Amino acid sequence: MNYTISQFKKNFPDDNACLDFLFKARFGKDYKCPKCGKTGFYRIKSRKCYGCAWCGYQIYPLKGTIFSGSSTDLHNWFYAIYMFSTAKNGVSSKELQEVLGITYKTAWRIGKLIRSLMKQDNFKLGGIVEADETYIGGRKKGKRGWGDKTPVMGIVQRGGKIKSKQISDSQTHTLLGMLRDNVKIGSRVITDDTQTYKPNKITRLGMLHDKITHSKGEYVKGDIYTNTIEGFFSQMKRSFDGTYHSISSKHLQSYVDEFAFRYNLRFASVSVFEALLLRLCELPYQGGQKMPAYPLRVSS
Ligand SMILES: [Zn+2]
Repeated sequence: MNYTISQFKKNFPDDNACLDFLFKARFGKDYKCPKCGKTGFYRIKSRKCYGCAWCGYQIYPLKGTIFSGSSTDLHNWFYAIYMFSTAKNGVSSKELQEVLGITYKTAWRIGKLIRSLMKQDNFKLGGIVEADETYIGGRKKGKRGWGDKTPVMGIVQRGGKIKSKQISDSQTHTLLGMLRDNVKIGSRVITDDTQTYKPNKITRLGMLHDKITHSKGEYVKGDIYTNTIEGFFSQMKRSFDGTYHSISSKHLQSYVDEFAFRYNLRFASVSVFEALLLRLCELPYQGGQKMPAYPLRVSS
């Protein structure tokens, strides 16, 4: 589902609209004052906060969010989130710097914090799943061809969602551990014929296993293929090369999360932009307490 630029302009014309949205979305219009228990907050114009009409208790909607302590305009932040939501190939710090008129350092920090909203949820995939690994980054070519590249595993449910994680190595026990943690028992796993999955390793996890023998030049045999996961990897890697150039292994997972996040929302009834705002509003306000669920209204 798309969230258009005209919707964005209408719903978030300026800093005040963004702050109002955060207050309403995080606390709700019937929020009871934690001090006096009554409802009714008004905006205190001179600060980024709202005061209780009865006792003066103050609520700062930016507290606990990625905007906390930032001197960048809230509207610029929201626009940066919008950019991430629509950019299929990611958003470079350089682009954020140019579009928002901020320093490169600030742009890098904003990108990093927006990506932190895209962490992959804990859920298991089922049905027919394709599993594969790829190698990302690095400059040196090692003896085994991968050099200092970082392995990333991807598991995708056909017609469904994806899980993709940076892994320490591509040893059998690592890959099997990933399958065990991310795939439901009874699923049918399709891989290529890499040596790692030798006899019955996957079936012993309670899953069916089919292989496509890439080594014999075979790529599709009926419904046995790994084109879905390979498609995800190639789009992600092209974007890494085109947009992000070099990514350190320290930050790699957050970039993988970014691509998985957009992939997983491609058929959702909520737009990527709204999903990001929802993530933002769920951050704990104080005392580590998750904010009460409040129906998020962004579209109009
Ligand atoms: Zn009060």
